[in-house]
Amino acid sequence: MTQTAPAQNLTADAAVPAFKRVLLKISGEALMGPESFGIHQDTVERIAQEIGAGVELGVQISLVIGGGNIFRGLSMAENGMERASADYMGMLATVMNALAMQNALESIGVQTRVMSAIEMTSVCEPYIRRRALRHMEKGRVVIFAAGSGNPFFTTDTAAALRAAEMGCDVLMKGTQVDGVYSADPKTNPDAERYESLTYMDVLKNDLRVMDQAAISLTRENAIPIVVFPLAEEGGVVGALTGQGTFTIIKD
Ligand code: UDP
Repeated sequence: MTQTAPAQNLTADAAVPAFKRVLLKISGEALMGPESFGIHQDTVERIAQEIGAGVELGVQISLVIGGGNIFRGLSMAENGMERASADYMGMLATVMNALAMQNALESIGVQTRVMSAIEMTSVCEPYIRRRALRHMEKGRVVIFAAGSGNPFFTTDTAAALRAAEMGCDVLMKGTQVDGVYSADPKTNPDAERYESLTYMDVLKNDLRVMDQAAISLTRENAIPIVVFPLAEEGGVVGALTGQGTFTIIKD
């Protein structure tokens, strides 16, 4: 583990992206803004602006958005609901978030396609890998909805899966803070930020970056994970160009 150091440079030039094709994972909670539930329109629009700035750099961007701002299968299952049904409800929540993000991106002129792992053809396209690749090659932001389409999974794992299927150079995980810390920096002033970690560091120390299945999948496919501050202005471009502050996880 390498601890706090100045922002790292993946490239020397601020305008040159370090990656060609990325999968950006945004948690459902990131869309809540100051609220404690649901979709906060101003926040969705702000994130859309960030993504639009990344698209302008010429980077092919795809998104997986979680659903935790609306519904989490596990919580309902703990209250007695059958887990698989609760998880399907969670996946449907991600479709709502995907449509909100599509709307915000298109309102600023970014072309998008929503592709769902659960077919709902009057709402969006079904997920077809080769078609998704084609959309990305054409510069469209592809928003992968409904997670992996399977219960007992999370959208973190779905993000790792789609990143591998799309041949992404990196999985970018947007968070409230600027990387992975040794403790919660909001409550512990001594928490130190890691500049880089290995997949094994994350797995062995049970660091809560993404769930273990997602870490294993990215490790097997040698896809680095960049944990960056989505809540900060310029966070997406900073992570794409290597000029911002973030933690990189690789072998
Ligand atoms: N979910 C699922 N399979 C998947 C992805 C998601 O069953 O492949 C369900 C699961 O119930 C989960 C919910 O969808 O709780 C919302 O996703 P997640 O909790 O990963 O969202 P986030 O924490 O990123 O907002």
